[in-house]
Amino acid sequence: MPPKHRRAVRRKLLLWYEKNRRDLPWRRTLDPYAIWISETMLQQTRVSVVIPYYEKFLQEFPTVDALARARLQRVLRHWSGLGYYRRAEQLHRAARQISQRHEGALPGDLAALRALPGIGDYTAGALLSIAFGRAYPAIDGNARRVIGRMIGSFDGRKLRRTAQELVPAARPGAFNQALMELGATVCTPRNPRCENCAVRSLCAGSGRAAAPARREIQVTSVVWPLAIIRRGGKILLRRREAGGMLGGLWELPGGELNGEASIPALLRGVLRDLGAPLPRPRKLGAVRHAITHRRIVAPTYLFELAAENTLTLPRARWRWVDLRRLGAHATSSMTAKACRLLSP
Ligand code: SF4
Repeated sequence: MPPKHRRAVRRKLLLWYEKNRRDLPWRRTLDPYAIWISETMLQQTRVSVVIPYYEKFLQEFPTVDALARARLQRVLRHWSGLGYYRRAEQLHRAARQISQRHEGALPGDLAALRALPGIGDYTAGALLSIAFGRAYPAIDGNARRVIGRMIGSFDGRKLRRTAQELVPAARPGAFNQALMELGATVCTPRNPRCENCAVRSLCAGSGRAAAPARREIQVTSVVWPLAIIRRGGKILLRRREAGGMLGGLWELPGGELNGEASIPALLRGVLRDLGAPLPRPRKLGAVRHAITHRRIVAPTYLFELAAENTLTLPRARWRWVDLRRLGAHATSSMTAKACRLLSP
């Protein structure tokens, strides 16, 4: 893109952004920590979903040091519902490293940021430009689409070079956010509104924009029966192994139904180690849940135990949990939904 065009793109985009930007909570601060939390939450999650989580999270963990001192379970509990729990784990680990190595302040240079768990090129660029006022590009899916359409190419190297050339030394954070905002609200994947676009006179794709074809994502349907074992006001939860998917979260016992197995056979297998015969279950209903590329239906069964019925819990990662205190445990979203079937 010739320098004259670059200057015009910057000017038009910044003007448009000043008039049209959405008023979002993380745009009212320059605190690198708060911006880091918002950028991490916003990855693959909608703005409207993130806002209440962001505000609550910052109330609970107002600084890097507060996050670093917190137990992982507490952090996961406040993340519960956002999905991608690995991000919360990485956030927590990164906070500990920042606390130990950088005196609790996010570093303002690329290499130090990239060395932290969970901080990739995009997050580093967003932090450096928005929080530290440094001229680094921040290329998320929206910025990529806008630049690709403007230059008429989605070649990765060309896109990155153009993004680097475009980002101005003055107000780099506002410029990067303007690009992303234009992609989110005007230059949308389908039916971009070119007639209302601030950069239409400089855009190769104006009026005929197309993003590169997306790979078809295979969605798998899964049946995952769940057991609620209740005794008095408590239910039995087990904790997922650390490190794997949803690692460390508490969940209802259950599992994926595969092959020829029936639901009763699967639940008998899952509950075999509990050391006592269980009563006949009652079906409460089914919950639906989507996680990455899986659409899950979870038929949920209630096993009501008498007060004197003792079970031998097989491992430390099983626990009786008072239903009124369920919210104090970091549970998977599917478990939280299934437990709501118990409500009158
Ligand atoms: Fe996107 Fe159209 Fe604007 Fe080009 S003119 S950036 S294709 S909305």
